[in-house]
Formats: sequence, C-alpha cells, structure tokens
Amino acid sequence: MNLNSISAFQDNYIWVLNDEHGKCIIVDPGDAQPVLKTIEDNHWQPEAILLTHHHNDHVGGVKELLKKFPGLVVYGPEETQDKGTNRVVRDGDKVNILKYEFSVIATPGHTLGHICFYSKPYLFCGDTMFSGGCGRLFEGTAENMYDSFQKLNKLPADTLICCAHEYTLSNMKFSLSILSDDEELNRYCRKVKELRAKNHSTLPSSLAIERKINLFLRTNDVDLKEKINKETSLQQPQQIFAWLRAKKDAF
Ligand code: ZN
Ligand code: FE
Repeated sequence: MNLNSISAFQDNYIWVLNDEHGKCIIVDPGDAQPVLKTIEDNHWQPEAILLTHHHNDHVGGVKELLKKFPGLVVYGPEETQDKGTNRVVRDGDKVNILKYEFSVIATPGHTLGHICFYSKPYLFCGDTMFSGGCGRLFEGTAENMYDSFQKLNKLPADTLICCAHEYTLSNMKFSLSILSDDEELNRYCRKVKELRAKNHSTLPSSLAIERKINLFLRTNDVDLKEKINKETSLQQPQQIFAWLRAKKDAF
C-alpha cells in the first residue's frame, strides 16, 4: 500500500492509500475536486472512503464522490450517517478493504463520535492527534481526549500519524512557549520551520516522534510538571492535559 496526501482548503490533508493495482482508499475527503483530479491523473479506481468525524472539512466531498463512483463503500461513525456514510462502524470493528484490515478506534474529544482507523503502520486520526498537538474540544471533554490519547499511545512506535491538518509549526511554537529550553522541541521546531519554508508537508509523523515532541503525550514528563507547577499545583496527567489544552485555546 502506498500513502499519498492531497492538500485541501487552507491546511487540510486528504490521505489516499493506493495498491499496486491502482485501487485506492480515500480518507476524509472534505473537498471532492482535488481528489477527483488526483484520481484521474493517476488512473486510480476508488474503492472506499474512510471518515473520522462529521465536520465539513472532512466529509464535504463525499456526496460528489459518491455521485461519480456510486459503488463506493463509505465507512464512518454514526455521526456521519447523513454525510454519505453507508457502512457505520464502531470501536473495535475490523474492516477489510482491498487486502488490508483496518481497526476502528473510538477517540471522542474533538467530536463525541470521532473515530480513528488503524492499519499497520498507518493511523488515520483525523482531528484527534496532530503533530505536536491535539484537536480542539468541540463536543467532548479534556478527559475524553486524554483517554483517546492513551489508546493511541498503545500503538507501536513506528505507527505513522496521518492527521488531517498541517498545524505542526503552530503546535511547536505553542510547545516552546511552555518548555522553551527543551532540546527535542527546539530541534524539531527547526526541522518543521525548514520544511514549511519550502512549503513541504511535515506529515506523516510517527508515534515515536510524537512521544518526544507532543506535550499532550508527555503529561508525565518531570520537566513539564515542574514548569507548569510554577503557575499551578496540578499533578495528575489528566489535569496537566486539560491545562495544556486550555492554554492552547488561548494561545
Ligand atoms: Zn474537525
Ligand atoms: Fe478538521
């Protein structure tokens, strides 16, 4: 399976997996036009769509794609049923598409019904985990999102984080505003700046990288706790996670 990303809107990525026969799987097509162009340019045949949640920048292109390719199977959580989903999936489901098996992982937080799809080594995590950050809490609580992060953190280190937005640089700036001396953060921020200066993508990231540079995965980190406790007296990782998310909202 070969991984491709298509840019859409300001900072969205639509991920496409294609196999050696030119069949493909499309993840979160918020816009149909760039997907149709890529499919035509490569002579791919779309087999299925995977949807992580109901927001328009993730599902907006589904109906048009279905019109063009009526046989498409659209997998998504219940909250996407009126967006074109014709196969509702739930936490723990295994879905076979082409030769590949995808596991469905419920990750509430950004929305209540948000799910991720994992097929080793690819994790399509929508707006749950971003490189260096996490999704906004539109429907769920910080506790929901914390639990979702713990689930994703159980995946292997070589898991590729295929998230739906190019937010890495702003996440690194935020992280450095908290832990300005952190070597890993500084090194990664430099790398991200170089990539963005050339308009290159910073994705996919890997879980191994995220464990080092994503503060939302470092809620047990001694340096982070010490820093935060100059302002507060939070100890529990869940509390630190919530504090970070609130700080980021105001950043
Ligand atoms: Zn969203
Ligand atoms: Fe989004």
